[in-house]
Amino acid sequence: MSKSGWIDVTVPIINGMVNWPGDKPVHITQTSQITNGDEVNITHLNLTAHTGTHMDAPLHYIQDGNAVSDLGPDDFMGEVKVFHITDPRQITFGELKELNISAGDRVFFRTRNSDMDWSMQPFMDDFVGMSINGAQYLAKIGVRCIGVDYISIASEENSTDVHGPILGANILIIEGLNLREILPGIYDMIALPLKIDGADGAPARVLLKKQGTEIEKEIPN
Ligand SMILES: [Zn+2]
Repeated sequence: MSKSGWIDVTVPIINGMVNWPGDKPVHITQTSQITNGDEVNITHLNLTAHTGTHMDAPLHYIQDGNAVSDLGPDDFMGEVKVFHITDPRQITFGELKELNISAGDRVFFRTRNSDMDWSMQPFMDDFVGMSINGAQYLAKIGVRCIGVDYISIASEENSTDVHGPILGANILIIEGLNLREILPGIYDMIALPLKIDGADGAPARVLLKKQGTEIEKEIPN
């Protein structure tokens, strides 16, 4: 944690990090290097918009949905509720309905995924993802943002049925968070995706800062 209380929950973007099956892996090279006699160091990035900690814009699954460049400051900053999910397989409707989640909330879910540094491990087929009825429930409530601790919010087989209702309801998704050290409670959040014009998503630097303990006690979990 920094002196100001902000915690960086972003995973590093690095060659060899995990990527979604079928996506091209991250490939970062130096096109100019001072140690080679060049005047400057220049890093060249070759990566998908859905690398590491990143935001999914509605356009990812909705053809006329907002792109990441259509989003604004109110999408990037504000309060977020962090919940710990106990189910070791999925974020289920049964567990979600017991949580204090209301319209307009930002919600982050810390699951067993955060028990290890998954970003440098091979792709996990059995990561904890959102269930289909969990996604439908959150879309119906009308939360404004959902954050999860793996590179996708849902398994390959559920991907469309989970992303669809959420992004279709104009709810933003932040994937690839490192929530290992984050306790349940209410935090301030800053999540700044790169302004890549017309893109369906973008890597983001995401920070959390714990709010006062009186407010924290109001969250049953
Ligand atoms: Zn994504």
